[in-house]
Amino acid sequence: MGIWKITQLLRAQRLKAPKGRTWHDNTILRMLQNQVYLGKVVFGKTTGSGHKDRGREPDVRQNPEERWIIYDDAHEALITVEEFNDIQIKLMQNSRFPVHTKKSKQALSGLLFCKKCGRAMTCNRRKVKDGEKLYVKKCQSMSDTGVVCGNPGIQAQDVLDAIDKKVKAYRKQLDHNKNKKRDKALQLMQKQITAHKQSLKNLEDGFGRIRNMYRLGVISDEEFMKDIKKNKEELESTQNNLRSLEKQYQYTSAEGRKDLRDRFADFDENFSIESSNPEDVNNLLKTIIEKIFYIREGDDFVLDIKFMWDL
Ligand SMILES: [Zn+2]
Repeated sequence: MGIWKITQLLRAQRLKAPKGRTWHDNTILRMLQNQVYLGKVVFGKTTGSGHKDRGREPDVRQNPEERWIIYDDAHEALITVEEFNDIQIKLMQNSRFPVHTKKSKQALSGLLFCKKCGRAMTCNRRKVKDGEKLYVKKCQSMSDTGVVCGNPGIQAQDVLDAIDKKVKAYRKQLDHNKNKKRDKALQLMQKQITAHKQSLKNLEDGFGRIRNMYRLGVISDEEFMKDIKKNKEELESTQNNLRSLEKQYQYTSAEGRKDLRDRFADFDENFSIESSNPEDVNNLLKTIIEKIFYIREGDDFVLDIKFMWDL
């Protein structure tokens, strides 16, 4: 029986772990590695204060085993030394608890979540006829009462293919929405530009009108100078506004959304390449995707992708 199964049985029987907590794989693992059950008492496994200052993590460090102080036969033993050693060897052989292995990143690492229970899902390699294949593992997450989620897994490549399709559809929709928004903004700017050009023409004609009035004696020398000056100032400010509007118009129509376009172009170019290593694929996915929710329904499966940007 594995640790996982033991955890499930304990939870299903509504038994509480030490300190009234819920049983976890790690609780069992620590118990199996704990020399207390040999009748020993061990001091000095950690250094530092376990007290929590406000807002601060307790400052506890693990000590190397040679610094532990162990008292033999401090109380009645529950297991023999042979049993204990046997357990340690079995634990080391158990792949679910690798001793010191750095897990290499897989394509879906940190991205895939179970749509049924919300927990993270993992992948593992399985031997097939011609080598190995990556599979999404069945969701093993367990409720506090020992009920296992059980959302079935699938070949990881099927998920990656589905992601590719969804990204393409998303990109299309995104472009469509952005273009629509941009077109609206451009239309508004165009209207403002036309209005500015019209008032510019009126102001230019204004000089002639003022001169005529002066010639006809309707306005005095002083008024003539004042009106010309005012008209000139208005003309200049309108010219300035028009220039900046035209600049903005140009920028908006040309720029689009460069950064976003670049990211998607990069994704398109690199995602489906056979030779890309899983870590590159993973990084690429993370440039545009936050989370992927997966649920298997019979032979089919559904993906809900949460992208970096809302549509
Ligand atoms: Zn689940």
